[in-house]
Amino acid sequence: MKRYDLFVHGEWRPPAGGRYSTLLDPSTGQPLAQVASGTATDVDAAVASAAEGFETWRRLDAGARGRILTRIAAILRERRTALAELESRDAGQSLAYAHHVVGDVAARRFEYFAGAAETLGGRTVPMSGHLDYTVREPLGVTAHITSWNGPLWVGTRSIVPALAAGNSVVLKPGEEAMLTLLELAAICHEAGLPRGVFNVVPGTGADAGDPLVGHPSVASVVFTGSVATGRRIMQRAAEGIKPVVLELGGKSANIVFEDADLDRAADWAVRGIFWGAGQICVAGSRLLVQESIAPDFTRRLLDRVAALRIGPSIESPDMGPLISSGHLARVSACIEAGLAEGARMATGGQRLTAAPLADGFFLAPTVFEHVPPESSLFTEEIFGPVLAITTFAGEAEAIELANRTRYGLAAAIWTNRVGRAHRVAAELKAGSIYINRYFSAGIEAPAGGYRNSGFGRLDGVEALAEFTQVKNVTVSLEQDEW
Ligand code: NAD
Repeated sequence: MKRYDLFVHGEWRPPAGGRYSTLLDPSTGQPLAQVASGTATDVDAAVASAAEGFETWRRLDAGARGRILTRIAAILRERRTALAELESRDAGQSLAYAHHVVGDVAARRFEYFAGAAETLGGRTVPMSGHLDYTVREPLGVTAHITSWNGPLWVGTRSIVPALAAGNSVVLKPGEEAMLTLLELAAICHEAGLPRGVFNVVPGTGADAGDPLVGHPSVASVVFTGSVATGRRIMQRAAEGIKPVVLELGGKSANIVFEDADLDRAADWAVRGIFWGAGQICVAGSRLLVQESIAPDFTRRLLDRVAALRIGPSIESPDMGPLISSGHLARVSACIEAGLAEGARMATGGQRLTAAPLADGFFLAPTVFEHVPPESSLFTEEIFGPVLAITTFAGEAEAIELANRTRYGLAAAIWTNRVGRAHRVAAELKAGSIYINRYFSAGIEAPAGGYRNSGFGRLDGVEALAEFTQVKNVTVSLEQDEW
């Protein structure tokens, strides 16, 4: 079994406390790798290294930085097969999807931001008797705390724009899955990233995450995870007056109108919640269906759910496992709570124990019908393969129901009426709106939350603004009067 140390100052280092944790393959329940558990001493070393790396990195011009980022992308593409397999076994993601993530998301982000950072200019400010201009400067050492779902997807979303804008990075990845991010750190340095510019300190939130957020030399914090942890991180960051970006949970509405292409909508409604076994922040966990088509649409949906191929992630199934036995127990408890509240389960609910799934953490795809908006199935993020169907009469009610949770990450609209699509999009309180598809179509589009789903935007050129600050320079054009 491979053992991973911390990655600090361009090299592998054992953790100061000498402790390692064992990661399991969620499809088989078998040990996959051992990973160092970092503590405050390791965080100190990583931040010191990042502070040193920053001084080198920020002095390179954007073109020079971009050439290194482009080399990183090339290595990711060369090692795509091996990295995809590692991501698949570690995070329980379909191998086919992991392959897409390595090449079309992670490598693509390095290429995109290599170029985008070169466009980071300021503006000249009209001002009488003066030349006034702004420049955008990097923040310094940026802390990145990420969730375990899709480590490479989530990790590169903030690391790449931070690096492109001239910052250095200390990453504390999610505990349950992070191996591709450790590999990425080594690849970055192989491609010529100066020592200390990208450091990874795995460990628990309390032992490694908290000291990182509170470290006086950390300039800003990007957090991806739950609302509860995000709130604590924002409070901790406030002590040091540090800007934060919060990418938090969701309970996204997928709205199907009677005039939609129902087969296409049903295909995507199933993918929207069951891809990644629902462990995707923007998962379409609430399906809002117009009353007039609800019985027909539900039948089309349940037929597709019954046909889903469920299996080990490495076989590229339609749906794989949950990340751990603990998470499986949490999701099962949410299902029990829904049943106790009187919700009607149309299918699923049980752990899958037939071979070859018995030792993995598999839950049947679960669908609840006629879910009232007061139900916890409607209001709470479950982060598992659990879909809640609710019906609506018309447009106004669809909008009201969609906006009724405290979250605001994403929403989808299925309709063939152009006016309706844009009218409803304008009313939805969510950072990403999909029309006649589900999920963002590319890393070029900014994404982030409204309301309790957080703030700040990653991906798209907007991400560069999160990792830069504006400096204004005023030059007097007047002759001295004295
Ligand atoms: P989590 O909040 O439990 O943990 C996230 C990270 O925070 C982990 O690395 C954890 O170790 C760390 N952490 C925990 N306590 C900490 C503390 N006191 N100080 C510093 N760090 C601490 O979330 P999770 O279970 O890993 O991930 C699932 C959640 O992430 C879901 O709510 C999901 O919706 C959300 N998510 C959001 C997005 C997005 O883009 N909005 C993307 C992926 C996941």
